[in-house]
Amino acid sequence: MSIISTGKGLNKYDVHICGNSIPTSQLNKHLGLKNKILIVTDDGIPKKHITKLKKLIKNKNVKVFVIGQGEKSKSFKTYQKITNELFKYNFDRSDILVAFGGGVVGDITGFCAATFLRGIKYIQIPTTLLSQVDSSVGGKTAINVPQGKNLIGSFYNPNYVLISTYFLQTLSDAQYKSGLGEVIKYAFIRNKKLKKIIQNNANKIVTKNENILKLIISESIKTKSKIVTLDEKESGIRAILNFGHTFGHAIEAHHKYKNITHGAAITLGMIIAARVSFFEGHILKKQLKSIIEIIDSLNLNSDFKKYKYSDLKKFMSADKKISEGKLNLILIDKNFNAFKTSNFNNKNIIKALA
Ligand code: NAD
Repeated sequence: MSIISTGKGLNKYDVHICGNSIPTSQLNKHLGLKNKILIVTDDGIPKKHITKLKKLIKNKNVKVFVIGQGEKSKSFKTYQKITNELFKYNFDRSDILVAFGGGVVGDITGFCAATFLRGIKYIQIPTTLLSQVDSSVGGKTAINVPQGKNLIGSFYNPNYVLISTYFLQTLSDAQYKSGLGEVIKYAFIRNKKLKKIIQNNANKIVTKNENILKLIISESIKTKSKIVTLDEKESGIRAILNFGHTFGHAIEAHHKYKNITHGAAITLGMIIAARVSFFEGHILKKQLKSIIEIIDSLNLNSDFKKYKYSDLKKFMSADKKISEGKLNLILIDKNFNAFKTSNFNNKNIIKALA
């Protein structure tokens, strides 16, 4: 079990990482015994998990609100439904919301917590690997609007994050691989220890070995936590967490956000970004090879070749990371440290996608 303190000052919170057991005393301490609790979850999360969570909670003032699974639930409509529940039960600032699910549940519940009565407490209990290593930590909350994904939201830290590998046992293969895409990102952008752990334990990772899972989640969170604590509102270093995202988002958009998971698109995006890093002279051929070997060793799709520059170009030019008309890319250097740059030759993007 490891506890990683994240955030600064009054917005500091613990991220508690455990194996298949769940530390009920910590959970109940953060949930409180007399206040009201609303658990938000989605209809794709096995019911047995919700039953188990409810059993662990000592406070009996608990309600559960189930939203539809999938990206479409990150909407104003669902926001209204959740906040209506909070009004119905007379929630005040001593009460607490629990986001129990993947990144979709985490993002919308966090946004409700951030805005209801100008901010109430919330806890993240992430149930997908992607949400355990990424979205539950860092305080980014959001909903989608017709103009784009995550365009309405706020930075609002949770009060506690409880991560248990127990919930991952029921995750589909595609969702598990999606989370692994984010795990390897931390290995490529700065966590050399994590890179070694993955290289030495690929098989155990693929078979969801409890101890290895706990270790790779802890290492991922250590890196994420360090970066988001340094830069809570993404005005500097936090941008490196977007390694692979410019190309990955373009791939997702090219697929109209269907039939490809976020992590699978980001994995392909990281290969393309690593190839640009290579053509720009920042990494060596053998380093590029080692990136692809790691991806292949986890049975993740590395076939970026079916995407052409002409497929992705228009989506890349709509990227949020464009500033003053220039596209910013996150690339990596020979020491596997990521950096943001607008100083690159566009021809190397075309080459990377050839
Ligand atoms: P998700 O929340 O859509 O969950 C994927 C699917 O897995 C859903 O169908 C869900 O019902 C199911 N599921 C969840 N837990 C399960 C379990 N234990 N067993 C079986 N099925 C389970 O997807 P996600 O990948 O977790 O999150 C993606 C979202 O996260 C996107 O909206 C993205 O924008 C957001 N995100 C946010 C941040 C952030 O910093 N806030 C970072 C990355 C991604």
